[in-house]
Amino acid sequence: MKNQFKVTWNAEKCPRPQDCGRCLEVCPEAVFALYASNRQEGVVPDEYVIAPALQYFCTGCRACIDVCPKGAITLTPNA
Ligand code: SF4
Ligand code: SF4
Repeated sequence: MKNQFKVTWNAEKCPRPQDCGRCLEVCPEAVFALYASNRQEGVVPDEYVIAPALQYFCTGCRACIDVCPKGAITLTPNA
């Protein structure tokens, strides 16, 4: 069975997700994950990305879209 919705995150609109994280907090299905993108041994990472990692569980409630102040999340129903 494929995902009901395609969830995308726009890095240009959300350059510092670690300063916000509202989408992470609001999603009732915990679809999103926050990852360090410049992980290096012995260095504290300072760049992060949001990954819609568990899209399979997205119900299309749109809470993430409503809460995002940057318009960085889009939701497309899969045909
Ligand atoms: S639409 Fe709802 S379930 Fe889907 S990712 Fe956004 S908050 Fe989560
Ligand atoms: S709610 Fe929007 S601005 Fe905030 S971390 Fe999520 S995608 Fe970025």
